[in-house]
Amino acid sequence: MTSKNETLFERAQRSTPGGVNSPVRAFRSVGGTPRFITRAEGPYFWDADGKRYIDYIGSWGPAIVGHTHPEVIHAVQQAAALGLSFGAPTEAEVIMAEELCRLVPGVEQVRLVSSGTEATMSALRLARGATKRDKIIKFEGCYHGHADSLLVKAGSGLLTFGNPTSAGVPEDFSKHTVVLDYNNSAQLEEVFASIGDQIACVIVEPVAGNMNLIRATQGFLQTMRDLCTRHGSILIFDEVMCGFRVGLHGAQALYNIQADLVCMGKVIGGGLPVAAFGGRADIMAHMAPVGGVYQAGTLSGNPVAVAAGLATLRLIQQPGFYDVLTKQTSRLASGLAEAGRAAGHAVCADSVGGMFGIYFSEEVPASYAAMMSSDKDKFNRFFHLMLNEGVYLAPSAFEAGFVSIQHTDQIIDTTLEAASSAFAKL
Ligand SMILES: *Cc1c(COP(=O)(O)O)cnc(C)c1O
Repeated sequence: MTSKNETLFERAQRSTPGGVNSPVRAFRSVGGTPRFITRAEGPYFWDADGKRYIDYIGSWGPAIVGHTHPEVIHAVQQAAALGLSFGAPTEAEVIMAEELCRLVPGVEQVRLVSSGTEATMSALRLARGATKRDKIIKFEGCYHGHADSLLVKAGSGLLTFGNPTSAGVPEDFSKHTVVLDYNNSAQLEEVFASIGDQIACVIVEPVAGNMNLIRATQGFLQTMRDLCTRHGSILIFDEVMCGFRVGLHGAQALYNIQADLVCMGKVIGGGLPVAAFGGRADIMAHMAPVGGVYQAGTLSGNPVAVAAGLATLRLIQQPGFYDVLTKQTSRLASGLAEAGRAAGHAVCADSVGGMFGIYFSEEVPASYAAMMSSDKDKFNRFFHLMLNEGVYLAPSAFEAGFVSIQHTDQIIDTTLEAASSAFAKL
């Protein structure tokens, strides 16, 4: 075959490991040739062969107002014309910080960075610096970027510390990370009862979007909040994915639970590299240059990236934005599940705000183990059938999907027709 995607993929693999700059893009999980994207508009993008897809990854979350929104593009063009980077502060960064403090509950101060990984890595260092403790708790299936302490999976026992999930992570790092089951409050209580005074922080995706979509239970997050308060540990909500996705005020508002620190990213850059971490002012006061926790970035608060972020934040605050987004996403999710079941498959779906999950299982999973036992092979075949129909889902059974405000009724109808035809062939 001589499709341009295949030619590009062959070339890419010669100059880049696996041909991609982020592993999930390589289609390893679903098989086949990744599509090389040439342009995007609204709910669509086009590949190197000129084929159009309805896009349900939205750059893994950022494209919430649809691709190439004229107001975002205009803001970027205007900022770019004034200079790409200064290495000195700008007013736009002040406005961005004020916006994030206003929109995210409990966030009194923020620091801007360029990726979600930097946000979580820095929040972790801050929590350790502020508490003078080393140990952290994370949960199996939650992804928090690729910092050493966070690429860790559960050890053999509850209190045995974790094992690295990546080569190159020293056990000296992973031994400070305790990995527990998501939505398991009893485990959390047990660990705090024995080593609570050593725990610097608990980091969690309050709506998990990196093991497909899994909601935390209210009780799980409340237990976490109470234990952190009681033991002087810092609660970090990693809202890099779910923040500004599940609602304008993120998961904290959804559950009415306040974290001590919040990590943000994806949507707040509108497609350019902006992320942030922030929270209680007394904790943030440990950050350099005021306090002793060091963190920096040549391109942090980059003026062009911040312009894209601010334009996006303006658009999502238009009245009714999240009502429409939530309605469309839930229509898509329930439609996909119905189409699957109508064709006799064990399929279900869930959605929160503008995120959705489709699961090849009898029930919506509530844990990593339940998610992992879904029918991955069936998903992979479904993925390729949908791709043929011109619908681009996340290329893995274990990733969430994303809807933009430009996925209108008509786009969703077209998607559901494609799904019916895909399920019939499955
Ligand atoms: C994407 C993501 C990250 C990492 O962000 P990058 O910008 O890819 O470094 C961290 N946490 C969560 C919850 C994410 O979804």
